[in-house]
Amino acid sequence: MNCLEFRRVVLEEPQQLAPALVAHKQQCKECHRYYVQLQEQEALLMEALAVPVPDDLAAKIMLQCSFDETSDQADANSSVVPLKSKGKTFSQFIGGFAVAASVMLGVVFWQTHLSSEQRELTEMFVQHMEHEAHSLVLEEPISVGRVGFTLNNVGIKPMGELVNVTYAANCIIEDKMVAHLVVKTDKGPVTILLMPNKQFKTEFAQEAKQWQVALTNMKQGSAAFIGPKTLDMEPIQQQVMQSVDVLQI
Ligand SMILES: [Zn+2]
Repeated sequence: MNCLEFRRVVLEEPQQLAPALVAHKQQCKECHRYYVQLQEQEALLMEALAVPVPDDLAAKIMLQCSFDETSDQADANSSVVPLKSKGKTFSQFIGGFAVAASVMLGVVFWQTHLSSEQRELTEMFVQHMEHEAHSLVLEEPISVGRVGFTLNNVGIKPMGELVNVTYAANCIIEDKMVAHLVVKTDKGPVTILLMPNKQFKTEFAQEAKQWQVALTNMKQGSAAFIGPKTLDMEPIQQQVMQSVDVLQI
């Protein structure tokens, strides 16, 4: 086991150390120190996440509920065809946009005509995900601290717990460090690339192979979501955008 391997593995699973890892930690001072720091950071993050929820959370939830009610009524009176056959009507989609805008969330429009840049980005995100294909088959949720640590490394503050995260790593995309997460859903894994140092010109969503790829802007930087075609990704996008806060750099 070398240092790189040790660090890669402990980043993924800092709580349980396999015997080979323990042996390396005992031999290598640098990695021992790295591990101690990692543990300290995990503890700090756990503490930070135990802080009460933001003051305006109740308002946001009520806003979301009122939207759900309104869109249900609108739905009953409307004959709009479902967008992308995902069980969402156009009116819900637009309603969703209004809510999202009011709570500063990013929302993506499905587009049929994509620029070559958007196509290239889509390809790049899918390739990146496939390059870490092992991340798609993990079953066990990882610790809150581990997720927080990964986000923290790129200047993102976790604002709430993201559920069912099975993978978290820091990767490089176009020369910038990003947070790469995978969230498990009943339709399959959703890969989330949070790129606070990288803003792309336009938001978009498109399908590629068996995947759908959506790029949304954050307060600073952007986030790409890559999930199974059959999944309605909007709830996950909203959950993620509500759970992270990009610190001003
Ligand atoms: Zn990655």
